[in-house]
Amino acid sequence: MEDIPTRVAQIRERIAAAARRAGRRPEEITLVAVSKTHGPDVVRAALAAGITDLGENRVQEAAPKIATLANSHPRPRWHLIGHLQRNKARAAAELFDIVQSVDSLRLAEILDRHAAEIGRRLPILLQVNVSGEVSKEGFALAGGIANRAACDLLYAEVERIVALPQLEVRGLMTIAPITGDPDAARPTFRLLRELRDDLARRLPQTRWDDLSMGMSDDFEAAIAEGATIVRVGRAIFGSRM
Ligand SMILES: *Cc1c(COP(=O)(O)O)cnc(C)c1O
Repeated sequence: MEDIPTRVAQIRERIAAAARRAGRRPEEITLVAVSKTHGPDVVRAALAAGITDLGENRVQEAAPKIATLANSHPRPRWHLIGHLQRNKARAAAELFDIVQSVDSLRLAEILDRHAAEIGRRLPILLQVNVSGEVSKEGFALAGGIANRAACDLLYAEVERIVALPQLEVRGLMTIAPITGDPDAARPTFRLLRELRDDLARRLPQTRWDDLSMGMSDDFEAAIAEGATIVRVGRAIFGSRM
């Protein structure tokens, strides 16, 4: 836990350097510290080190942590980054500041309904599987926008999602294949950016600003390809419990 401030500072420097190499400003990139499996004390250490955004992948695990840390100043923003089961959608709409892992029209409709009941507008990202890995959640778009047939199916669903009144679509999220080689992830990140640019042309009323991509092993490659949100777990907190 003593290492957390050092690690956060190192990651911030690497983010800034990667941004400058890409001709971007470091402030364009939000660092989400992925705190899954780590308890509230570890998370507090990250907040004390200046972390403002936290990522969790399970509602059940996140709920007590969010409650425990509810009085932190400043209050952290909580991002849901893992697959959301429909029966947890109401809790997710109550607990999280943004759901990054919306991966079907059906889930979007359920979240919209719960957000209406709660009386809030819920920011979301659409999770897209552009790499074609079978193990990945997300809207299927293997090969990206070159895959026109899959694109047409996806866009028909996206048009319905952006019309849902209680959801605020802000962009896209993806998980690159885990290979240990950051350069191997770059084509995946590039495909997501191209998809975002295409969606922004076709549905210009929606804000397609955010690209959530890049984790501990490949966030610099993601920044080179336009990431605005990087999700970093192990490089801040060490190996998971
Ligand atoms: C766990 C997780 C991360 C963080 O991964 P690290 O390799 O620990 O940085 C990022 N995104 C998602 C969706 C995750 O589930």
